[in-house]
Amino acid sequence: MTEPTRPPGFATTAIHHGYDPLAHHGALNPPLFLTSTYAFASAAEGAARFAGEAEGFVYSRVGNPTVAVLESRLAALEGGEAALATSSGVGALTALIWTLLKTGDHIVADQMLYGCTFGLFEHHLPRFGIQVTFADLTDPANLQAALAANTRLVFTETPTNPNMRLVDIAACADVCRRAGIRLVVDNTYCTPYLQRPLDLGADLVTHSATKYLGGHGDLLAGAVVGPKAIIDQLRFTGIKELNGACISAFDAFLILRGLKTLNLRMDRHSATAAKLAHDLEAHPAVAAVYYPGLDSHPQRKLAQQQMRAMGGMIALELKGGLEAGRNFMDRVKLATRAVSLGDAETLIQHPASMTHATYDPAERARHGFTDGLIRLSVGLEDYEDLREDLLGALSVTRKPT
Ligand SMILES: *Cc1c(COP(=O)(O)O)cnc(C)c1O
Repeated sequence: MTEPTRPPGFATTAIHHGYDPLAHHGALNPPLFLTSTYAFASAAEGAARFAGEAEGFVYSRVGNPTVAVLESRLAALEGGEAALATSSGVGALTALIWTLLKTGDHIVADQMLYGCTFGLFEHHLPRFGIQVTFADLTDPANLQAALAANTRLVFTETPTNPNMRLVDIAACADVCRRAGIRLVVDNTYCTPYLQRPLDLGADLVTHSATKYLGGHGDLLAGAVVGPKAIIDQLRFTGIKELNGACISAFDAFLILRGLKTLNLRMDRHSATAAKLAHDLEAHPAVAAVYYPGLDSHPQRKLAQQQMRAMGGMIALELKGGLEAGRNFMDRVKLATRAVSLGDAETLIQHPASMTHATYDPAERARHGFTDGLIRLSVGLEDYEDLREDLLGALSVTRKPT
């Protein structure tokens, strides 16, 4: 066999990286190791593994062979040194924050975040003496202005959940690097196929693997990717001793299965969402569509710079506001009324009363998203069927004139 002349591409990495069938009885798929603990050949070997002086597993809260394949694959896909897989996206986030921060520290976060991330930052971290300043990071100048002497972490999503604003990762990374502060990017919406924050200068990437990485709506999981020294700290302090949010081997197995089609799914989600975003924008009942693939998106150029394709998430507002939005949601038949995203099924939800109900009305106004906003996770169904469902539900929503 000749040696490959180029590094493997995204799909090859997603299908093969970190696993050799011939080392496992030829099994095409990584074996599912359903075990909580691991036998030591001797007391001395057990002690050496615990001391980190010998390779090997000790207990599945800290490591499991099936999970390890997933972790090495996620690290390769994001272009990071190492990865930690967790029981949920929130588990990844708390492992990171509780490990890297202490009382008296300060976080700067974008003003628009996934609802439970906002809940953690705004309502719970202050109880532990960690303060968070929310700033509009769509302008990196606002980041510089929000930094304080005790700022340890800058946190952002892009595109933001739910209103699809973009944050310039390279520009924020530049500000952070000069200030010696870590930049963390939640890459759930894009996955490494569409966007690689570490390549753009971010220090760490977090994921809700519940969404596109798993891709089939059948599990909860999360991940952090970044330098091995930090990932080790998150594993041996964050997961082992602080939050215990370890992933199950079975969920890791399912994510490995999902990853095999990640690039195909993301291309299809993106292609269908782009067409639907145009259709929706042209409809007279629609007040606004927020999708980075539309010419009307104020950060269209940045989207083309830092994203490979524009993804499957669309936000929209109807002319009749909240009431029209609720009617629209009740009329769709093919789209499923449900939170979460990134599944084969198209999902529709109302952030203000569902995923982002952690923002009270005053906070929603202050952080810049409206009560009428509807969020659509475009699935893998046929475009024509989705178009008929969504536009049909809009037509009857339109107020008689
Ligand atoms: C869902 C989500 C999370 C939380 O992940 P869980 O797996 O539900 O804990 C975090 N960030 C974003 C952007 C999400 O969509």
